[in-house]
Amino acid sequence: ERILSSEATESEEMSELSLRPQYLSQYIGQDKVKKELSIYIQAAKARSESLDHVLLYGPPGLGKTTMAMVIANEMDVQVRTTSGPAIERPGDLVALLNELEPGDVLFIDEIHRLPRVAEELLYSAMEDFYVDIMVGQGPTSHPVHFELPPFTLVGATTRAGMLSAPLRDRFGIISHMEYYETDDLKEIVRRSADIFDTEIVEEGAFELARRSRGTPRIANRLLKRVRDYAQTQSDGVINRQIADAALTMLQVDHEGLDYVDQKILKTMIDLYQGGPIGLSTLAVNISEETETVEDMYEPYLIQKGFIKRTPRGRMATAKAYEHLGYDYIENK
Ligand code: ADP
Repeated sequence: ERILSSEATESEEMSELSLRPQYLSQYIGQDKVKKELSIYIQAAKARSESLDHVLLYGPPGLGKTTMAMVIANEMDVQVRTTSGPAIERPGDLVALLNELEPGDVLFIDEIHRLPRVAEELLYSAMEDFYVDIMVGQGPTSHPVHFELPPFTLVGATTRAGMLSAPLRDRFGIISHMEYYETDDLKEIVRRSADIFDTEIVEEGAFELARRSRGTPRIANRLLKRVRDYAQTQSDGVINRQIADAALTMLQVDHEGLDYVDQKILKTMIDLYQGGPIGLSTLAVNISEETETVEDMYEPYLIQKGFIKRTPRGRMATAKAYEHLGYDYIENK
């Protein structure tokens, strides 16, 4: 298990419930998204209408699911949750739609992985609140028309570009979630420490925050491990030195990179003279799926300035050489 994975483990999915902010006022960071949503939510409530459909896109662990719950709480409605891969047949989707009360939120995580037939049902459901489904087989099959209550679809995806245009166009509100600033992550760490009843000093929270890849899920995970370390190796208080020692033990370096990130950079430099190298070649070299590299590793490495994208492929930057302790040789 990779400590810096931005995907939730099964046990985390449970514990994340208690860590989730419930309302916009408790939701830390993502100020632009929050501001826009709060305006649309207020307006929809004032008109007693359901909120327009919302697409949230951004890397895993940034709070998309949390935001879907917050939207439902703010609108004072129920939320039903599913995910693209969980819907195998159109009937699975119809069953969910059938349970909706007026104004409810239907949250579909990984919406880009919905099967095509289910996706097509969503078009009329989103636009005019009905679905036409085929019932029966062969010559006796016939369409049945289902009216739906007005509802809000909240879709989450790691990349908006993976959504088909007809689906994307049906979202009135499209919000891009960004990696969190260190200050915001620091606040998230302090809030979570409070919930865990763990004492943490300012510099301890800062150290955790800056090594968490801009991702609340990772910050919360690292906090738990650092808490264990503080409890067994010291008096339980998380200060900078304890955080540093624990994170170093976990092989999370000062820039918040782990061994996979380092392996990516080393591969680029040692085997490909710093690049350019194609994403799929890179993925093969570190035994990962191309999509995983693109979603989980690369965005952070690019954001931090270790990798740059060029028309010919990815290249390691001078910062990457320096970070690994190599002399920089510019490759043209
Ligand atoms: P995603 O759906 O984007 O993968 P989640 O909504 O599941 O991410 O968030 C992962 C974890 O991070 C949640 O347990 C939540 O407690 C925490 N989290 C996310 N965003 C925030 C935030 N803005 N403030 C506090 N905690 C957050």
